[in-house]
Amino acid sequence: MITREDIGGVHIKYLYHCPRQLWLYARGFRPEHLNESVQLGTALHETTYSRYSPVDLGAARLDHYDGQAWVHEIKHSARPTAADRAQARHYCHQLTRIGVPVEGAILHYYQSRRTQRLPYTPEQHTHADNDIDRAVEVINSPTSPPRPDRARCHGCSYRDYCWNS
Ligand code: SF4
Repeated sequence: MITREDIGGVHIKYLYHCPRQLWLYARGFRPEHLNESVQLGTALHETTYSRYSPVDLGAARLDHYDGQAWVHEIKHSARPTAADRAQARHYCHQLTRIGVPVEGAILHYYQSRRTQRLPYTPEQHTHADNDIDRAVEVINSPTSPPRPDRARCHGCSYRDYCWNS
């Protein structure tokens, strides 16, 4: 059974994108490596943002932590999403949990060249705490969450599984 300590950034991202995706991912279903947009994200990390040093927190791995205590996350999507913000918030939560000071997170959107700054406030900490509880609840559920409307599955790398099985 998964516990709060096992929850990483990808779990939180999938919780927001689709709880069913989180449930499948936690059971070892990983079609992401076949997805072109995921491959693009990996390539971006290895080239454009090569000066960044990933920080491995065990269950979570963030792209960069700077000298002013800001977490940096690189996004290849065009627009900010709630999932992006939740994932960044989770990384801040993980750092504070081990005693590392955190001012907040900065999301870098490669396509638009925009950034979004998310200060890490006590409210954000509570929010991140609640997200972890929700992720544990979804993962430990004996049955998979239902599919959303098919339109919401556009571009999801799990689509073949969810709609053809
Ligand atoms: S294909 Fe749809 S239902 Fe399946 S994980 Fe993706 S978003 Fe969720």
